[in-house]
Amino acid sequence: MEPSAEGPLLRTPLTDAFGRPLRDLRVSVTDRCNFRCVYCMPKEVFGPDYAFLPRAEILTFEEIARLTAVFARLGVRKIRLTGGEPLLRRDLPTLVRMVAAVPGIEDVALTTNGALLTRLAEPLAEAGLRRVTVSLDALDDETFARMNGVGFPVARVLAGIEAAERAGLRPIKVNAVIRRGLNEHAVLDLARRFRGTGHVVRFIEYMDVGTANGWRLDDVVPAAEILAQLDRAFGLEPIPPEAPGEVATRYRYRDGAGEVGVIASVTRPFCRGCTRARVSTDGKLFTCLFASAGFDLRRLLREGATDDEIEAAIRAVWSGRRDRYSELRSRATQRRRKVEMFYIGG
Ligand code: SAM
Ligand code: SF4
Ligand code: SF4
Repeated sequence: MEPSAEGPLLRTPLTDAFGRPLRDLRVSVTDRCNFRCVYCMPKEVFGPDYAFLPRAEILTFEEIARLTAVFARLGVRKIRLTGGEPLLRRDLPTLVRMVAAVPGIEDVALTTNGALLTRLAEPLAEAGLRRVTVSLDALDDETFARMNGVGFPVARVLAGIEAAERAGLRPIKVNAVIRRGLNEHAVLDLARRFRGTGHVVRFIEYMDVGTANGWRLDDVVPAAEILAQLDRAFGLEPIPPEAPGEVATRYRYRDGAGEVGVIASVTRPFCRGCTRARVSTDGKLFTCLFASAGFDLRRLLREGATDDEIEAAIRAVWSGRRDRYSELRSRATQRRRKVEMFYIGG
């Protein structure tokens, strides 16, 4: 059957070479960041002279909204704005409003380091943002400063989380990357702080995204170790996934104090359920976080392609997709050149 032009629900379902549908879209709205996290943009590599993308190369709001509409025609219902630090993109609430208005888009979410959330939570929620994930890797300033690379204080991120709460962006997910020798003690601190609040802390295994962070397997704290710590301290039991393709494995505290999760992309890869497409700051389509190259959607947009032509291009890329990097991870795959997380959108 030919795909119909009448609406997203009537089109031929799009699946990749392993039968995985395209469900979620992540867009990196800027490659810049006000932090220099050791695991993402270490300050030794991303110093004052680092050349970020010039403005003309970055997708405009209109281009992002147009791509979102084409992705929605292909079955995408959820969009997450990320980066870099998305709150550094000027007028971000305007973009939220534009993508929230796209027919078919049911959920607009954001991942942020929280530094500017106190000022922006309210306008973002008003514009149609539904959910926010705030990254926070420790609760003591000394460790957090070592993680974020710029000495940013914990209290200001916590104030951002409170502002998001007040703006109705609940429940909040709090992401913490745990790196061996740096912040293992933050596991119990963060769990204790957010138990009973309704917010969900998710502990992320340190991943070999990009090449700048100098990743070593020895620096990964396996999810099993994190879970054992939590279980000893509070008692945990597993709970089923909320939605298909969910990357976090969910647990609840036995005493009813809420939920916690781990994202174990190194020790328990979840490529089989991976339904995410990513669009980089300059409009390249990536079908895996660990890819080396993407498909240039910006060129199509700027050369006057029609929506149908852009849709056909995305279909072709997705239907040929065979990515399963984490399942195949080895010394050889790690040495491959890979794009950086702040550019592709974490
Ligand atoms: N700047 C925002 C933030 O930090 O939340 C959004 C972009 S950041 C790239 C998205 C997420 O990726 C953050 O939660 C961050 O902790 C995570 N991340 C970055 N580098 C990582 C790595 N090497 N391993 C695991 N997670 C990583
Ligand atoms: Fe910036 Fe987020 Fe990367 Fe940290 S993880 S350097 S906050 S983009
Ligand atoms: Fe998806 Fe690639 Fe991650 Fe596997 S490694 S879950 S295919 S992004």
